[in-house]
Amino acid sequence: MSTKLRKFSEDDIRKMAAMIKEQSPEHYFEFKDPFWIMITTILSHRTKDEVSNLAGRNLHEKYHSAYNLSKASEEEVSKLISKVGFANVKAKRVIGAAQIVINDFEGKVPNDIDLLMKIPGIGRKTANVILSDAFAIPSIAVDTHVHRISNRIGLCNTTKPDITEECLKKVIPQDLWLGFNPTLVEFGKTICKPITPRCSVCNITEYCNYFKKNQKKS
Ligand code: SF4
Repeated sequence: MSTKLRKFSEDDIRKMAAMIKEQSPEHYFEFKDPFWIMITTILSHRTKDEVSNLAGRNLHEKYHSAYNLSKASEEEVSKLISKVGFANVKAKRVIGAAQIVINDFEGKVPNDIDLLMKIPGIGRKTANVILSDAFAIPSIAVDTHVHRISNRIGLCNTTKPDITEECLKKVIPQDLWLGFNPTLVEFGKTICKPITPRCSVCNITEYCNYFKKNQKKS
């Protein structure tokens, strides 16, 4: 049976979003170019940002363009991205993605979620990251941080990231969608951590369901 969610006013949401941003470090973006944002995002699956950024930088320094990467050897790419998780699989994926961009999209990353999701290695979350980070198209990418934090606060009561995305799109005003993922990622890495959230230093306790429940228990 689902728990009844607290209803947040738009004013609450805006205040909370501002307070989360205030206590979260600025997110570092390695690239501005859509193609290299796409490649780094594919590399980032189950890998720390610092590691996928470094691997993306290695590929960029070596190949410079989608065309050159589309012609690269898997072995060489695997070596350049060896620190990311599943390096061999991702080497195939980034070369394949470069080939599709060259052969099917005239060398340009598409700015459409359905077209992006036709590229192997790009699921809904990755496509949303590309839309927002590369094209500034309002979208909410739901990764483990966004999913966990939204449920802890009580913005959503969901078990799957795709449903969390639907929920957040109803709850969060559209002008806050851009930047929502990077801010929550940083907030999740520093304050609302996966195993033990640092509620004692968090500035949104007054809004947070998880905090209220745990306060009652103790
Ligand atoms: S109060 Fe605790 S659980 Fe709630 S958002 Fe802050 S750190 Fe996360």
